[in-house]
Amino acid sequence: MKAELIAVGSELLLGQIANTNAQFLSQQLAEIGIDVYYHTVVGDNPQRLTHAIEVAKQRSNLIIFTGGLGPTKDDLTKETIANMLNKSLVLDEEAWRSICDYFAKTKRPMSPNNRKQALVLEGSYVLKNEHGMAPGMALTVDHITYMLLPGPPKEMQPMFIKYGRPFLLQKRHVREKIVSRVLRFFHIGESQLEAEIEDFIDAQTNPTIAPLASDGEVTLRLTAKHEREEEAKRLIDELEQNILARVHPYFYGYNDDTLFSKLLATLKENNQTLAVAESLTGGLFLEEMTALPTASTVIAGGVVCYTNEIKENVLHVPKEVLQTEGAVSERCAQLMAENVRKLCGSNIGISFTGVAGPDELEGKPVGTVWIGIATERRTKTFALTLSGGRRAIRMRTAKYGCYYLLQLLH
Ligand code: ATP
Ligand code: MG
Repeated sequence: MKAELIAVGSELLLGQIANTNAQFLSQQLAEIGIDVYYHTVVGDNPQRLTHAIEVAKQRSNLIIFTGGLGPTKDDLTKETIANMLNKSLVLDEEAWRSICDYFAKTKRPMSPNNRKQALVLEGSYVLKNEHGMAPGMALTVDHITYMLLPGPPKEMQPMFIKYGRPFLLQKRHVREKIVSRVLRFFHIGESQLEAEIEDFIDAQTNPTIAPLASDGEVTLRLTAKHEREEEAKRLIDELEQNILARVHPYFYGYNDDTLFSKLLATLKENNQTLAVAESLTGGLFLEEMTALPTASTVIAGGVVCYTNEIKENVLHVPKEVLQTEGAVSERCAQLMAENVRKLCGSNIGISFTGVAGPDELEGKPVGTVWIGIATERRTKTFALTLSGGRRAIRMRTAKYGCYYLLQLLH
């Protein structure tokens, strides 16, 4: 299948919103082994939409539309397609009933154009909208499949996952199962990771390897196809083992794991509680940790010690240390970690101090960071020199805190 995505909406062309629907659908289609060759964006204009479809028909046999299924005049995707394919629009009873129910339940007045939302292309397979009103639909004419999805991501995404994706899988007539797994790495750059496993990347056929870098992390998506799911899994296991044999120190988790969720799980496994002293991260680390459910079982609490006064008065970092070595120093990070641990009565204390920028501090350049990790037995400190803007430095510092602590716990 050669797929093409057509996003309909003048607001996309005006730059008011980004075409995240195309991003989502491309990822989804890649997962089920359908190649996407083109993304098109076209405004709410029937002539230009018709033209875009004519072009797409020449080169694709799956065309997925998003947007323009609503009740208003500028929503004209299905009208335009009906016109082109010489199909009429018919009322879908189920969609119409749920629209009526919605208006009855919310006691809002219905306008005549709401009926337009329940119209579907005759003969199409209707994709139920469980998060809004306009149903989606799919129709194959002359070996080309047209799938129409609503514009709002919160309607389109669940509709595609629940109804659109199974429809396409069955359409492909392939018995092949596709299994994919994401391996997550930290403290290694994309190019270094690729260099380490270059021979695997060059030789890839099944499974395939897709690297991606974002937010200071690198991921590898391994995707295998096989008629038997267990065999596809086995192929992935084997490749994963070979990859990790080379880059294991940087590997931290799978799929939706984050450094923070891994740290939470590992602290739990080890029955350890954690206290946090945050200077340059200003609470960011605790925010990320406590955003996770069950964080309270391992996170004792912490201190945002942004000023030297708080470092001295609350965390008992001696004035001399702050005056001679500075707040951004190994000694300060060490004392912050040790003292917050004692203050909160937890097993481990972690501290963050550094220069987030844009200006240097205490004569130390932007990106200078110290992390301290104190346990009952000893304290370790870590120096970092990070690049990037203020936001990136703060977030990467928090992630490095997870990374170093995970290494100590393993
Ligand atoms: P509605 O019933 O809400 O009118 P619709 O199917 O007619 O839905 P549009 O009117 O084209 O869809 O878009 C509605 C909203 O959905 C847009 O204002 C925008 O917020 C979002 N949206 C539309 N297309 C996209 C896209 N390609 N990527 C991300 N968001 C989109
Ligand atoms: Mg609309």
